[in-house]
Amino acid sequence: MAKILINTKHYKDNLDCISAHIGSKDKLALVLKDNAYGHGLSSIAPLAHQYGVKNVFVKNIQEARSIEHLFPHITIFYGRFDGPIPTNFHPVVHDIAQLDHIPDNTRVELKVNIGMNRNGINQKDLDTAFEKILKKNCEILGVFGHNGYGDEEGKEFDYSQNCFLDIRGHATRLSEKYSIPTPRFHSLSSSGALRTKDHQDTLVRIGIAAYGYVPYNFPVEIVNKLKPVLSLWAEKIATKHLPKGSKIGYSGTSILQQDEIVSTYDIGYGDGLFRYDGIKKNGTKAKLFTRDGFEILPKTSMDCFSAICSQDEICVFEDVRALCDFFGTIPHEILTNLSSFLPRILV
Ligand SMILES: *Cc1c(COP(=O)(O)O)cnc(C)c1O
Repeated sequence: MAKILINTKHYKDNLDCISAHIGSKDKLALVLKDNAYGHGLSSIAPLAHQYGVKNVFVKNIQEARSIEHLFPHITIFYGRFDGPIPTNFHPVVHDIAQLDHIPDNTRVELKVNIGMNRNGINQKDLDTAFEKILKKNCEILGVFGHNGYGDEEGKEFDYSQNCFLDIRGHATRLSEKYSIPTPRFHSLSSSGALRTKDHQDTLVRIGIAAYGYVPYNFPVEIVNKLKPVLSLWAEKIATKHLPKGSKIGYSGTSILQQDEIVSTYDIGYGDGLFRYDGIKKNGTKAKLFTRDGFEILPKTSMDCFSAICSQDEICVFEDVRALCDFFGTIPHEILTNLSSFLPRILV
């Protein structure tokens, strides 16, 4: 059966490398959203727990519930909440109107807009947000922004950080005014955290770097030390000895240039692996190979693909960047797309 292997040593090495860079293990908060970036939340969360991570971020309450007993602080990025929630669950407030959908007496984190103009309140609404949150008897555990320019060179990254510093001062003054504890502050995800040397925030929110990647558009040395955690494996279904000229698969897109041994393997786009039709994102024709250099033949099907290979099992990829180049995307997209039905096995 097709499967995903999770390299636990690489995962731990990545966390060591990131903690060393940010200067402390306590500042390391992990983003486990979207089934831990496709790695399997139920596989990754216990590893993060064993490592000593206390603060994590997930997408919704279903994800939070599945790891409820592992972490003292689980921040939930999205969703509306109808009833009481456990004390270690922290809904994110993105908008003042959303407060109607958050139970009273909850510990929340307040998201502020520092330049992406997507989610989070603007600084001019900070006073109102504090007032309304406190009126609901909610506690403000954290105030955070998301720097959307971590992967890019240019002034916007610093502009966003300065904006966050301003808001941080403002939120600190409001906390003094209301005599409440100063919230924790965080503004950087993987790319920002790893390009920055001086970390003033209480936490950094690390997602993709823990899994071995940061897709910078400029060189940052630490990225070469990170190692891919996930590899995708497929099992053979059938093998055929086919003569030159044989057409393979839907529409006969692949035509053999010589006699070949061709096998099918049990992964297709129904398993979340993108459909490969032989045309790269940039419109040119290109071949795609497995980790060990076996040619994958277009078009791939819903449940299988053909390759010039006779091995019983093949590693489709170990470093997803080879596929990113072909499909014109970032590691996040290919990894999070992998079906949750594929078994994740720790090695
Ligand atoms: C997904 C996400 C992160 C993690 O981003 P990476 O680039 O994967 O490190 C951090 N913060 C927020 C708000 C996110 O949505």
